Amino acid sequence: MGRYIGPVCRLCRREGVKLYLKGAKCYTDKCPVSRRPHPPGQHGTARKKQSEYGLQLREKQKVRRFYGVLERQFRRYFELAARKKGVTGEVLLQTLERRLDNVVYRMGLAGSRKEARQIVRHGHIEVNGQKVDIPSYLVRPGDVIAVREGSRDHGRLKELAEAGGAHTVPAWLEVDLPNMRGTVLRLPTRDEIDLPVQEHLVVELYSR
Ligand code: SF4
Repeated sequence: MGRYIGPVCRLCRREGVKLYLKGAKCYTDKCPVSRRPHPPGQHGTARKKQSEYGLQLREKQKVRRFYGVLERQFRRYFELAARKKGVTGEVLLQTLERRLDNVVYRMGLAGSRKEARQIVRHGHIEVNGQKVDIPSYLVRPGDVIAVREGSRDHGRLKELAEAGGAHTVPAWLEVDLPNMRGTVLRLPTRDEIDLPVQEHLVVELYSR
């Protein structure tokens, strides 16, 4: 499956918000979003009036890039959310939060979602005692996510666990970092998802 391999800070600058794609650098004053707060490219500083479609498109791209999901898969998440009960935009974000790579990142076992994705792909993670190496695997409340026995000495994972995790853990997860495991207590609520996006615009875009 294809994936974006270009410069990632460019994506944040395009959306005008921090998408936390780089790990530690995102929390320093070296972050280009603070240093050059305008879109990248030759016409980045030009003032442009955005159309309604343009606004909707930017909000969709923001969500997609935040979770590192490609267009086709993102649309599938939207279709899944649209079929479920509840506010579609919120259900969409909730579904994306349930991705295993996101959960590993939220547990503090990776500095970025990209790093978490690699940790999962390399077979270091198990869910309810079973190895799962699919980053898009959707966890459910009650699931126990852990670093596999043979990976407990993995340099980077050990370093993060000993440092108390890469960042603060949200309340919908319970994490035992010394034992490198965590439990999904419930699904996250909208205010627990730290993405500054107007998700109803994504719904409007796909409902055109
Ligand atoms: Fe780069 Fe991180 Fe800043 Fe985004 S938030 S621009 S990825 S340093």
